[in-house]
Amino acid sequence: MLHENLNPMNKIISVLSALLLSSAALLHAQDPDSLYNRMQEMNEIHDDSADSTMMLVRAIDTIDTQDKYVKIILFNDHTWDYIEMERPDIDTTGLFEDWDIESIHAYRDVKISDLPEEVDLLLVDSGHHFVAPFVGRLSSTFKYRRGRPHNGVDIPLRVGDTIRSPFDGVVRYVGGGKATGGYGNLIVIRHPNGLETYYGHLSERLVAENDLVAAGEPIGLGGSTGRSTGPHLHFETRYMGKPFDPERVIDFPNGALRDTMLTIKRHYFNVGSHYGMTDKQSKAVTDAVYYRVKKGDTLGSIARKYGTSVNAICKLNGISSKKVLQIGQRLRVR
Ligand SMILES: [Zn+2]
Repeated sequence: MLHENLNPMNKIISVLSALLLSSAALLHAQDPDSLYNRMQEMNEIHDDSADSTMMLVRAIDTIDTQDKYVKIILFNDHTWDYIEMERPDIDTTGLFEDWDIESIHAYRDVKISDLPEEVDLLLVDSGHHFVAPFVGRLSSTFKYRRGRPHNGVDIPLRVGDTIRSPFDGVVRYVGGGKATGGYGNLIVIRHPNGLETYYGHLSERLVAENDLVAAGEPIGLGGSTGRSTGPHLHFETRYMGKPFDPERVIDFPNGALRDTMLTIKRHYFNVGSHYGMTDKQSKAVTDAVYYRVKKGDTLGSIARKYGTSVNAICKLNGISSKKVLQIGQRLRVR
């Protein structure tokens, strides 16, 4: 499928460049001429494939071929032609920023406050589609669970069920055993728009670091490795290394993409911020302050420390003022 003479990094950059270029071109999909314009550009670059009559008709669709770089273009006069994807020399430094195949998480020096207030990611276009990683009801959502952040969603499955990459991408991390702790066998894929997806508790890993994967390609088999009480897929979505609710991207029970464009807001990077919340509700949880109970703490001492009242803390946490605090328990104090 790929040219053998390229080294792996060049391969990755070439393919992603092509993906990015086509994403950029299709960003203007509302413009009915955009694909035609793009085709014209391509024909100028590839004179040998140009046909003078082609300029007079309009491209109406593209069809993928076995070669990622070659697509079939259909025109409104029922003719068709091959189009070769250009490999432009564009800046992919942003995409491969913090490209770390040794660590589970990349961008570890990036703080949430460094991120933009809002960023739009194009998830799919006519050339790049979506396939659900696994279809099913969630047994656990993106939330605090027993005082710890659960940074993804859990989908129950049978050991051996096929897990697929939802979008085109490059495998950034593959690990298991002690290295991944609770994740068990883990795969992390970085997609051309910068999004990363995580797949935990796998029984088998079918890809290796730096592998290119297409949307729908099997990447692993479901399992129960790591900290898991039964076979399920632990799935995370991260941007610049920061997790946000995967339900903002995928409707898991229906195996459907929520929208072709994903707007990520900075206040989404909080395990209390969920799909379906208004911005006001999401911001409120992001502004929340939590405290982990230490030996000797009482509701009164914690309230004094944060300049609030026992009643206010009880209300925020849905507990009674007579509740016995547990060491390590997480209390919302603001
Ligand atoms: Zn999980």
